[in-house]
Amino acid sequence: MFELFVQVADLPAAGREFSFTEQRIWADPVAEFRLPCRFASPMEAKFQVHPHEQGCLISGGVCGSLFMPCVRCIEETKLMVDVEFQEFEAFPDAVVSEEDGGWIVSKDGLLFLDAAGFLWEQFQLALPVKVLCSPMCRGICVSCGANKNQIACDCAA
Ligand SMILES: [Zn+2]
Ligand SMILES: [Zn+2]
Repeated sequence: MFELFVQVADLPAAGREFSFTEQRIWADPVAEFRLPCRFASPMEAKFQVHPHEQGCLISGGVCGSLFMPCVRCIEETKLMVDVEFQEFEAFPDAVVSEEDGGWIVSKDGLLFLDAAGFLWEQFQLALPVKVLCSPMCRGICVSCGANKNQIACDCAA
């Protein structure tokens, strides 16, 4: 998994903006989880991180386009991702030595936001629960396997 962290102690009180074009943020987990997803255009993301006493407010957006198979007919379907988000990530309660939700504490005790993990999560939330090539998709015939959007087969309904 691609790793990218934002050090909390480095953030100015007014917050800081980050932009991301590193494709491995999204391509690595897609490969790792073997998702049937092919990117059509590069993904891009931007966010502002504002430090607060209890956590950080993260607001920004992620956009790009990709292909995924339709759940009914398995034809590749183009999806546009263009979402905005605003989330408050609360600091971990106790000092942990490893990963805790969106946070990582280094050996010398510095707190880091797991930016790549956060952006992967936002990307996943932006995807539809069910990918359909069209709301009218007729799917695949269970008897002969024909794509019913393309062929009217003679099998009984
Ligand atoms: Zn379909
Ligand atoms: Zn058929």
